[in-house]
Amino acid sequence: MSSTEILNPATGETITQVEQTPLEDVDAAIARAKRAFESWRAVDPADRARLLRRFADAVEADIPHLADLEVRSAGHTIGNATWEAGNVRDVLTYYAGGIERQSGRQIPVPGGVNITFHEPLGVVGVIVPWNFPMPIAGWGFAPALAAGNTVVLKPAEVTPLTALRLGELALEAGLPEGVFTVLPGKGSVVGDRFVTHPDVRKVVFTGSTEVGKRIMAGCSEQVKRLTLELGGKNSNIVFGDADLEAAAAAAPGGAFDNAGQDCCSRARLLVESSAMDRFLELLEPAVKAFACKDPSSADAEMGPLITAAHRDKVAGYVDGASVLFQGAAPSGSGFWFPPTVLDSREGTADFDEEIFGPVISVVPFEDEADAIRIANSTEYGLSGSLWTRDVGRALRVSRAVEAGNLSVNSHASVRYWTPFGGFKQSGYGRELGPDAPDAFTETKNVFISSE
Ligand code: NAP
Ligand code: MG
Repeated sequence: MSSTEILNPATGETITQVEQTPLEDVDAAIARAKRAFESWRAVDPADRARLLRRFADAVEADIPHLADLEVRSAGHTIGNATWEAGNVRDVLTYYAGGIERQSGRQIPVPGGVNITFHEPLGVVGVIVPWNFPMPIAGWGFAPALAAGNTVVLKPAEVTPLTALRLGELALEAGLPEGVFTVLPGKGSVVGDRFVTHPDVRKVVFTGSTEVGKRIMAGCSEQVKRLTLELGGKNSNIVFGDADLEAAAAAAPGGAFDNAGQDCCSRARLLVESSAMDRFLELLEPAVKAFACKDPSSADAEMGPLITAAHRDKVAGYVDGASVLFQGAAPSGSGFWFPPTVLDSREGTADFDEEIFGPVISVVPFEDEADAIRIANSTEYGLSGSLWTRDVGRALRVSRAVEAGNLSVNSHASVRYWTPFGGFKQSGYGRELGPDAPDAFTETKNVFISSE
């Protein structure tokens, strides 16, 4: 059996080894999940809700441990990792709350009664990237389980520890064997099997657009249901009439949170020409003060990048580019890269490609139409922000930017109460929000004759 060495990105040291699930064990787990589905779908709604709330309680009790695992194995700051574990708890609780309210419709028809049911799909395969191992797992498994499906979950090869722990917590909370199974291993083995196995009825994939396209093609073979959450190249648009102090203070967090390894990172900074000089004056101290340090310290705002290879890829975008200013990062071992702001241009690699690191590319714009044109000059369409005091402009620009999640005078794009997902090549379907469980069901229409 092969295993994967799990490294601490802050030090480069090995923490542990995790066995990769071989193909025959993946098939066996899918078979168990298929059997478990027959009883799980039949659990009374109130009992299924109770079990998911118990799962949420078990997560709650384990938050310090889960957070510590994520700090050590993914380099997340302790503040973020604690929030992320809490997000799993909240998402479980939120979808547990919908189980007893998941009603169909009675539709008036001649000659009888017509009712609809939300039937669960069966086994759902969730494929998770390394950048947010806990929340992204929860956004898939919580609504899927709530809707009556069973779940097999593949964490990213380099960050399986918190997912494995969540699998243990589910069992401790009383979820029946086979209802939620975590299968660490390679995308090309475990993830690919979710796509090809006929008993996996839906795939939820979060990751790169490149792999997402291949998964979409693979799922077409069986017309397999699919949700995709892919990459982003998101704009932070600062108009001259904005509260420039507030916009400058928030810009580093909007781009550098999780070391920029965030599909919602506002890595394009578009500033109205007339306000550029003043804005950069305000931005520079905010970037230099952004605390990139040992992620286990309480005041860390950003930790290291995930791997040495990823750090080298990020550095490649900065080499030869025009650096406006950089913050500080620890030196020595670990995969560190400092917060960086580039004087950029449309059409450059740093402006067009998803760097997935702590790099902001600054480009000026002339007016509202120009800002919208530049923000939309990408095949991605995940999120974005705009800063203005003009309410009409806030509405016009929010409607005109082709992205799934926009924030005005804020960079918040993920709230579990509201739908999340991408336009264009940033995704397919939506996660979170009140309707997420519907994406894990088929609508069945039943007509009962009164003749
Ligand atoms: P990735 O290479 O696409 O991997 C994502 C997941 O897919 C991993 O678990 C990976 O396994 C697995 N995988 C790889 N090849 C596969 C295959 N042929 N079949 C099935 N599964 C396969 O992405 P990443 O490098 O981990 O993550 C970074 C990317 O994710 C960025 O582009 C980012 O924007 C995107 N992302 C998007 C969102 C969103 O919500 N829109 C959220 C987070 C991240 P391995 O670990 O073995 O490679
Ligand atoms: Mg990858």
